[in-house]
Amino acid sequence: SYSNLSQSVANYVEGLLNINECADLKLALQIAKRRGTPPLQVIPTDGRCLEILARSVQAKKIVEIGTLCGYSAIFLAKALPPEGKLYTFEQSEHHVRVASEVFTELNLLTKIEIVFGKAAEKLPEINHKGPFDLIFIDADKVSYPHYFDWAIENLRSGGLLIADNVFVFGYIGEEELPSGDLANLVLAMRTFNQKCAEDARLVTTFMPTGEGMMVAVKK
Ligand code: SAM
Repeated sequence: SYSNLSQSVANYVEGLLNINECADLKLALQIAKRRGTPPLQVIPTDGRCLEILARSVQAKKIVEIGTLCGYSAIFLAKALPPEGKLYTFEQSEHHVRVASEVFTELNLLTKIEIVFGKAAEKLPEINHKGPFDLIFIDADKVSYPHYFDWAIENLRSGGLLIADNVFVFGYIGEEELPSGDLANLVLAMRTFNQKCAEDARLVTTFMPTGEGMMVAVKK
């Protein structure tokens, strides 16, 4: 899989931090493996980065688009105070079932609410719960520009907008577009990245993490 880290550096950092040795993450990955969800979760150091960012803005209300087995959600939930809330959106019924099992096992269902359905349709249902302290986009890439439009309106001043996979497996900077559906992903991501870079309400950067992460703070 695409990674900006060389394998030896990745192994070194993993060995230092041992992130996946935490009982909660270990359990989540065991359940995901048993239930056969694709291993598309963020890498451990990026999950830790999400937790640090959420803690640094003292997030109490977080939105995640793309739950999968709940791996990244666990990091975000760690950052929340007891009364904090994470709304995580997922369109796959199977993934919702797996994540529910994970959150139940970890006693996280008071903090985490899974919203089942296409995120573009479901996001407006939580507008009244906002504004939000952190919004993390990690779902269907073609919808990123749409998610941006929702997020910028529903993020508090001082809040963080974060998106994963913003380099589209390295294709983002290539002059020639890849063939097939990938081309549409690259074009959508260029639109999204440009929106993030140009919006005067944001201070934006693109970090060369595992999959390339956009991090922006709303002024
Ligand atoms: N954030 C997760 C983690 O790091 O543990 C990984 C998310 S995975 C890369 C993307 C997820 O988004 C998949 O579970 C997929 O089913 C879901 N998804 C794709 N399109 C979606 C949509 N339109 N609305 C909601 N979820 C969607």
